[in-house]
Amino acid sequence: MKPDPQRRDLIATAFLTRFGAPPTVWCRAPGRVDLMGSHTDYNLGAVLTLPIGRDTWIAARPNHSNEVKLHSLNLGTDAAFSLDVSEKPAVPAWIDYVHGVAVALQEEGLPLAGFDGVVHSSVPLSSGLSSSAALECAAATVFEALGDWTIAPVLKARLCQRAENRFVGVNCGILDQFTSCMGQEGCALLLDCRDLSSRAVAIASGISVVICDTKSKRELAGSEYGERRVECETGAGLLGASCLREVTPAAFDARESELPASVAKRCRFIIEEHARVYALATALTTGERPAIGRLTAASFDGACHLYQIAAPPMLSMMAAMLAAPGVIGARQAGAGFGGCMVAFVETGFIDEFAAAVWTHYSAATGTQPEIYPVTAAAGAGLI
Ligand code: ADP
Ligand code: MG
Repeated sequence: MKPDPQRRDLIATAFLTRFGAPPTVWCRAPGRVDLMGSHTDYNLGAVLTLPIGRDTWIAARPNHSNEVKLHSLNLGTDAAFSLDVSEKPAVPAWIDYVHGVAVALQEEGLPLAGFDGVVHSSVPLSSGLSSSAALECAAATVFEALGDWTIAPVLKARLCQRAENRFVGVNCGILDQFTSCMGQEGCALLLDCRDLSSRAVAIASGISVVICDTKSKRELAGSEYGERRVECETGAGLLGASCLREVTPAAFDARESELPASVAKRCRFIIEEHARVYALATALTTGERPAIGRLTAASFDGACHLYQIAAPPMLSMMAAMLAAPGVIGARQAGAGFGGCMVAFVETGFIDEFAAAVWTHYSAATGTQPEIYPVTAAAGAGLI
């Protein structure tokens, strides 16, 4: 992990000002962008995911108490909780993500120490790049360092997911936490959410991944996400399967007409998107540009018409991305409903691509987007 002296100074100064002594432990965990596989994780399908260089840092120092006291530099606020309390407070707060991790680790019988900490993230919050998982996985890594035990990264990911599901109350799949804990520098991961196996996928040289942030905020805990999950479960149940992953395209084609129309659309998207994950992994490795363009276009088309997770800013961004020089393919990212999107771009054209998308999107929407390339970063660990 390359040190970033300016960021380190910023955090160290804030820490000293607030807590009167320097931090003793530094941990980080990355955000992620899904390259293919929208909403496939909770259907136990496959996802092609990229841990990104944008990450969350926590600088910490044990405080010899049962309190965890944190300051978020992103929000400019302090928050605290007691390790003796396992219930979620009545008023939701950002520190619930960390409190939930503490509860999940304690349920595993792991001893935890209280600490003072400063949090700083370069993952944009609530934009679909998973700042929540980055916060959870960085926090779990602090507890691990201070508690003098280690757990396997896959278990860490599952416990962080449990924190978000049960404590925070967001019914997310395993994708975000798995990517943040299991990331490897330099390659994407093809994750199988049924057995939590993964393999590294190299992206052919000359192809860059570029984030295009619509700057329209989305709420993952919102009703739409939960509704999609219920529709998928309903579809799987009506097809006699435990989850949509178990339904083959041929079996689905044969019985699609038995399903209520909206459930059928959701199921078709997931079943097709799962297959596209493997196809895109191959196309990215071999560098087959036409296949990348075709697969990403089909994914976005399904997101619009079948899964219906596209918001108007996403349509404007898609038009801007597809019209820009050097584009190979583009699609939605995260849960949809706004936030970030992702493009594959010829590496030599990144600057021209970014300038053209910026101009096109700002003219169309009146909102200034943020556009930047990302590369694959290592998973959660000490800095
Ligand atoms: P995403 O994970 O896509 O960024 P979520 O809605 O799942 O969006 O999580 C965002 C929430 O996570 C924020 O509203 C905040 O509560 C919490 N969070 C993440 N990173 C930080 C941070 N650095 N400081 C404070 N809160 C954070
Ligand atoms: Mg999240």
